[in-house]
Amino acid sequence: MARTRLQRCTVCGEYGLTEECKKCGGKMASAAPLKFSPQDAQGARRRQRQDAGSDKWIESLPTPRKEEDE
Ligand SMILES: [Zn+2]
Repeated sequence: MARTRLQRCTVCGEYGLTEECKKCGGKMASAAPLKFSPQDAQGARRRQRQDAGSDKWIESLPTPRKEEDE
């Protein structure tokens, strides 16, 4: 049983299952599968991109309830 691997166009980056890109006709190369890591190796980079910890980031967080009462 042949297992179809996800291909990615080396020219335009389009994903597909053929050896030639349907979009631009470019050459497709097998795309590496997305890896899941419980250690979240990209976490620090992602948080840096979102500017985690800044006031803007805090405001973007969902707030389940307001704690105005004392
Ligand atoms: Zn393409």
